[in-house]
Amino acid sequence: MANNNRQQAIQEIQRNARLRNICSSLGRDVKRIGKDIKTLCPFHDDHDPSLHIYENNDGDQYHCYACGAHGNVFEYVKRCLGVDFSGALSWLANYTGIHLPTAQQRRTRILAILNQKGPMTAQEVADELYNRGHTLSRERNHAAPRLTELKDAGLIEATGKKICQRTGRKVTVWAARKVNTTVSTGHPQGRFFAKHGYK
Ligand SMILES: [Zn+2]
Repeated sequence: MANNNRQQAIQEIQRNARLRNICSSLGRDVKRIGKDIKTLCPFHDDHDPSLHIYENNDGDQYHCYACGAHGNVFEYVKRCLGVDFSGALSWLANYTGIHLPTAQQRRTRILAILNQKGPMTAQEVADELYNRGHTLSRERNHAAPRLTELKDAGLIEATGKKICQRTGRKVTVWAARKVNTTVSTGHPQGRFFAKHGYK
């Protein structure tokens, strides 16, 4: 689904991203009890599911009746992953498959490549963008600035250095930050916090 307008893409993501699925993908058990959809709140030390999910055609919302945390899918992803709005937007675009315009779309594609292919250098990412028909040349600059932005957004990290075969220079290897995708059993809270370090 091509989308040239950022605001439209944001609204489309908000309408299509189901918060209960996102909670599961980020390691939470989601329970449906009657009309209520509940999960353990990731924003306080919760032992009896306090976070309620409200499904809505204009976008799902959550509200925690213990700590008062409240927001939409963007807020949830921002707080769970410790990223900014732009980082949450890239993550959700990748998650929902909804395309974003220009730089944002490029970041989303790069994130998808790193998720699929594992750690890569900027040049290798640029080669992959070219191979997939997203760019018209193998120019490293198609990837490098976007990798920096993804790092600043907290979605990728430098995992080491290697020698670039083309230039003979030592270059950074980038990898998508691991997100806990297993549905938690036992002590989800502990595992979640161990992984992401939130309070
Ligand atoms: Zn809470």
